[in-house]
Amino acid sequence: MSYEQVEVPADGESIEVLDAEADELDVPSNPIIPIIYGDGIGQDVGPAAQTVLQAAAEATGREISWMRVYAGESAREKYDEHLPNDTVEAIKEFNVAIKGPLTTPVGAGFRSLNVALRKKLDLYTNVRPTFHLDGVPSPVKHPEQMDMVTFRENTEDVYAGIEWEAGTDEVQQVREFVEEEMGYDDTIHPGSVGIGIKPITEFGTKRLVRKAIDYALENDRDSVTLIHKGNIMKFTEGAFRDWGYEVAEEEYGEAVITEDTLWEERDGEAPEGAVVVNDRIADNMLQQLLTRTEQYDVLAMPNLNGDYLSDAAGAQIGGLGIAPGANIGDGRILAEPVHGSAPKYAGQDKVNPSALILSGRIMLEYVGWDDAAALVKDALEATISSKKVTYDIERQIEGGEKLATSEFAEEVADRIRSNA
Ligand code: NAP
Repeated sequence: MSYEQVEVPADGESIEVLDAEADELDVPSNPIIPIIYGDGIGQDVGPAAQTVLQAAAEATGREISWMRVYAGESAREKYDEHLPNDTVEAIKEFNVAIKGPLTTPVGAGFRSLNVALRKKLDLYTNVRPTFHLDGVPSPVKHPEQMDMVTFRENTEDVYAGIEWEAGTDEVQQVREFVEEEMGYDDTIHPGSVGIGIKPITEFGTKRLVRKAIDYALENDRDSVTLIHKGNIMKFTEGAFRDWGYEVAEEEYGEAVITEDTLWEERDGEAPEGAVVVNDRIADNMLQQLLTRTEQYDVLAMPNLNGDYLSDAAGAQIGGLGIAPGANIGDGRILAEPVHGSAPKYAGQDKVNPSALILSGRIMLEYVGWDDAAALVKDALEATISSKKVTYDIERQIEGGEKLATSEFAEEVADRIRSNA
């Protein structure tokens, strides 16, 4: 592949995919990894994350060859387009990439670049490990009870972008079809209406639920909970639950057992090492996150539920400056933090880079560099515990020392070097 706008680092090698569905990769010790800094605070947290991740790679005898690619405002300024083809192609070619946040204007303008990237690269799973780091202030009494991993479907649901604006000919056509041909003549109020469509497919649901169950089995997790609003949206969210159970019942033999079977046939006693699959209605689950935190483990859900629920879970462990994530397809990952571009802090060397650093940790685990990933987590936790923190944490604790983004990253990298 030749790129028109960006350079491929001369000294790195490609990560090759051996088995896409199993996320099996052939990773050299000097991989080329594309990085998008993104908008707003992306220019602050991007270099900070590079410092820490490179330190962890070097401490374990490797080196990352970063390939800087562009999206968002920085791409528009440089190339007059928000999502250059080179960026998409680089992630397709090198398979493992990391990005900072991208600004999405509300209302008019382009649809979300994040959504576009996930769709173009078929990154159909959004994974967010949510666990508490010692020393991070939290709004709940026992943040340490939270240790969940959310799997959010990334390509369908109301995020599919099939919607029509009030007042257009298109919305009128859809309205007539729904009312006259489908028989919902008394359902939509008279006057202006905006209409959106919520597709949830068997294909999209099953591949997402498989990823969640595979993860639970590989990481010795006890349960996978399907979260849905199937009591109301029977043919979309209800179907998500049913197809999810089909995967559990038909594809994993004795390694997976449903909660119903567990009680009907085994008196609640799960076979050794088996993953239990159950389901919860989304509103109930949002309160159980707080009231029964310890009972939940891996969660799988459609797109919109996942958006709300993973942010709520993130708040319990200290909020946006900390919460990491990654978008995963078959044999491909684009790690990214949960937070946005926080434009008011852009370029101030002020915000917390932990969320992007921990997103990088997910990426390191994905390529099998578990030793480097562990160094990152331990050094980050030790730095925060020593009360050397960025503004967002410093304002919530007593006796903290406020560090700039870059100082914090150097502190974490130093700890990695001395712990290695
Ligand atoms: P945001 O950028 O996440 O910022 C909201 C607030 O969260 C900040 O004002 C700050 O709170 C805190 N925060 C966020 N990141 C932080 C960090 N690294 N360290 C410390 N505190 C941090 O949310 P937003 O203002 O709603 O969104 C801004 C833009 O980002 C929008 O265009 C949105 O669409 C976009 N966005 C992009 C992504 C993505 O690229 N994946 C995700 C979400 C939002 P305090 O001011 O209270 O300190």
